[in-house]
Amino acid sequence: MRLNTSLGVYTAQEAQAYSFLNDGGNKAATDCHSNQPQGTDVVSTSTNDIEFRSVTKNYGSVTAVTDINLTVPKGAFLALLGPSGCGKTTCLRMIGGFEQPSEGTVLIDGREMNGVPAYRRPVNMVFQHYALFPHFNVEQNVAYGLKQMRPRIGSTEIDRRVAEALEMVRLGGFAKRRIHEMSGGQQQRVALARAIVNRPSVLLLDEPLAALDKKLRSAMQIELQTLQRELGITFVLVTHDQEEALSMADVVCVMSAGRIRQLGSPQEVYDRPADLFVADFVGKTNRITAAAEADGTTLRLADGSAIVAGKRLAPGDVIAALRPEAIHLTRKAAASGASFKGTVTHRIFLGSSAEYAVSVPGLGDFLITADRRSMNESDLVEPGEEVFLGFDPAAIHVFPASNAQTRTREQHHEQGL
Ligand code: ATP
Repeated sequence: MRLNTSLGVYTAQEAQAYSFLNDGGNKAATDCHSNQPQGTDVVSTSTNDIEFRSVTKNYGSVTAVTDINLTVPKGAFLALLGPSGCGKTTCLRMIGGFEQPSEGTVLIDGREMNGVPAYRRPVNMVFQHYALFPHFNVEQNVAYGLKQMRPRIGSTEIDRRVAEALEMVRLGGFAKRRIHEMSGGQQQRVALARAIVNRPSVLLLDEPLAALDKKLRSAMQIELQTLQRELGITFVLVTHDQEEALSMADVVCVMSAGRIRQLGSPQEVYDRPADLFVADFVGKTNRITAAAEADGTTLRLADGSAIVAGKRLAPGDVIAALRPEAIHLTRKAAASGASFKGTVTHRIFLGSSAEYAVSVPGLGDFLITADRRSMNESDLVEPGEEVFLGFDPAAIHVFPASNAQTRTREQHHEQGL
């Protein structure tokens, strides 16, 4: 069942779970270890907040995630990143207790959570559509969960905690405002205040910025990062926006077709993608079809030219991946490094940089991002001009061509084809 409100849509299960979530995570008022599920040891020795052990989730005949193994250290900001349908939300909902694994175990703070309901977990969730109560004002929304707690918390303590949470999200002066009098970004902050008011040990964020415009989203990204550092609790963010994941998280988990493809820092997944999927999905990539020759270093390209790669290669058909910003666009051939000659077909002016599409005979179209200051040429290159694409061969990432076929199959899986 879904509830329609003037502000959005949320499921009855989510609304109900929200009030219980606050109850489950909040006995912190009287007990600093109260975020532990009831009936378990109070003192934890785990350094991981969240752990997935061989977790598979099936919805009937649909396998949403397969054999997920993942550990998230306490206080980390983890982003689950991947295309629609890859299983991110399913993972988040298994942490939150809204779904149970079909196989394997989810642990929070070292404790097995199988069978533990959402309201008994030390976790709160911020939903994409906020799930605020439209008939309450801001402070009533934030206080709601605290008021459901048993044993009861005194009203002075509730007021103190609500005021503190509103200050943290910079809504100090908005306590009495009605929800419909708040902007989208302010409503998002109310939802955040409500989720942190009881200091859960883990905060789950399901595409929390999706409804905001670009500028507000950027501002909220910085605020969420700051908030996470101030609170020192673990954040798990679901997003399909790679910029959001790279800019906010300190650990990025790239997923595809129900599996983890790479887990690493934003720099690692961007600079050293584990496979072609990650190279394609995280940032933009130019693909060059090539064959790695028997000498183990030469890449023979489709136009017959050769590049000496800066690393040992297994012989066979490969896809060489090259980032748009790793290519320098010049009007004269570069003295060193590798170089292609082509013609500019399109240019998109982006202010401090420009994106060019360049057609290279025999190799296809290339995308190049050129920082205007690094071009050493004051004028922009015009469509129709002949240019040289220079790059350091060490910037190329080489993947087996079979990787590309796997990727196509996975795209079909995610799109339900
Ligand atoms: P999105 O970004 O679109 O939310 P996602 O990466 O979060 O996608 P999930 O929502 O976890 O993906 O879904 C993973 C797979 O499981 C998809 O194929 C989806 O259709 C399927 N799925 C999710 N929930 C259910 C359900 N309740 N019943 C049946 N299939 C489901």
